[in-house]
Amino acid sequence: MNIAVIGGTGYVGLTTAVCFASKGNVTFCVGRSKEKIGKIRRGVPIIFEEGLEELLRSVLSKGKLKPTTDLEKAVLNSDVSFICVGTPSRTDGSIDLSQIKEASEKIGHALRKKDDYHVVVVRSTVVPGTTEELVIPALEKNSGKRAGSDFGVCMNPEFLREGQAIKDLLFPKNIGVVIGEIDKKSGNALCELYEAFDAEIMRTGLRTAEVIKYARNSYLAKDISFANEIANICQNCGADYLAVRKGMEMDARIGTGRFLDAGAGFGGSCFPKDVRALVAKAVEVGVEPKLLKATLEVNELQPCRLVELARHTIGKLKGKKIAVLGLAFKPGTDDMREAVSVRVVKSLIDEGAKVWAYDPQALNNAKMILGNRVAYATRAEEALENADACVIVTEWPEFAEGKLYNNMRHKVIIDGRRVLNPSKLSSGFVYHAIGFSGPVRT
Ligand code: NAD
Repeated sequence: MNIAVIGGTGYVGLTTAVCFASKGNVTFCVGRSKEKIGKIRRGVPIIFEEGLEELLRSVLSKGKLKPTTDLEKAVLNSDVSFICVGTPSRTDGSIDLSQIKEASEKIGHALRKKDDYHVVVVRSTVVPGTTEELVIPALEKNSGKRAGSDFGVCMNPEFLREGQAIKDLLFPKNIGVVIGEIDKKSGNALCELYEAFDAEIMRTGLRTAEVIKYARNSYLAKDISFANEIANICQNCGADYLAVRKGMEMDARIGTGRFLDAGAGFGGSCFPKDVRALVAKAVEVGVEPKLLKATLEVNELQPCRLVELARHTIGKLKGKKIAVLGLAFKPGTDDMREAVSVRVVKSLIDEGAKVWAYDPQALNNAKMILGNRVAYATRAEEALENADACVIVTEWPEFAEGKLYNNMRHKVIIDGRRVLNPSKLSSGFVYHAIGFSGPVRT
């Protein structure tokens, strides 16, 4: 099959295009930026994602990936177009669908010139009703054709996790594939494409597929906020959240869930944006989303607890050197969108601290957000040298190494992700984490 991926310079678009190409499909990776498309053409991945660079080079060398800025040519030479463009938050929390509208109009325009059957697939996260009320009308208006009879339409939400995107796309067994379809013919075409993947496929309607994506992300975000609230209670009443969690998980009805990790809260390009968008949509359709709102409220306050712990342990932060380890919103990515680190760093600076920040992948993106009010270290040891305290914000595995922290002036560690086992530290450390009643002294 030939495929066009619109939004091919983004996290989802690029990884999707490369993975479909790796299954032997000629895949047009369509972006708007000539510079970024030029880099992709030269095998430069433009984002950090484990395994992406090797796979990109491999599909380019086999002639399966065609990076291009020419959307029309890509659609005319494909059987299926995936819309993978951004759907950011507006200031009121609702979703900005302008990129979806523009992409749909352009695809529609190309379809006017196309005789062969073509299926348009919405892959971006869009609020329920978007495919029917915005995408299909834009496609029909600009193509002069009828959805369902002249061309196909599907809504196929993306479930990849940044940091493991290639694995999730190539082996979707654990996350499944949801296909919302306007009719059987459209869904059949997409099922054929997924035959090359080992995945359970669920076929449903367009709106249901749109809701499934939001329901999944909101469910997981709610678990994180729940874990954080219980951990905060533990901290203030003398219990250890790690043990509480273990006790909870003994109940088979709860089970072992990774999303019961307590810490600095969730960030990134999906959870906060998607929960906000669902809140806005719920209100629009007459539902008061109390649980979703509480999920966001708990999360909003959580990063402040790290700064409070630092202040509580070393006193006033003014003039103190604080090492911040980890800036990306999660390990395995260079993505800084809505990263918790931004909130932590800004409040440390507001309190007068001298912040030295380090991240193995996200420094360039961080500089664009945090600017020159922060000193950037190229190694964790540099950030930690003579520091008065260290705040761990992202759980990169390298931060679990106890001897990393030996060159600090005052040996105070605030671990926002429980990445470090305090038993690995040498003597003289004060170790704090969310969900402990008091610090561990080594
Ligand atoms: P992104 O902002 O990184 O990428 C979007 C890309 O689309 C940008 O590079 C932009 O230039 C490009 N684009 C916009 N209009 C275009 C057009 N007309 N032609 C060609 N390119 C165009 O966003 P993302 O993180 O890749 O997310 C894309 C969508 O997938 C969003 O709806 C998001 O919510 C959803 N999603 C993201 C993730 C994730 O982990 N990032 C996971 C699942 C779903």
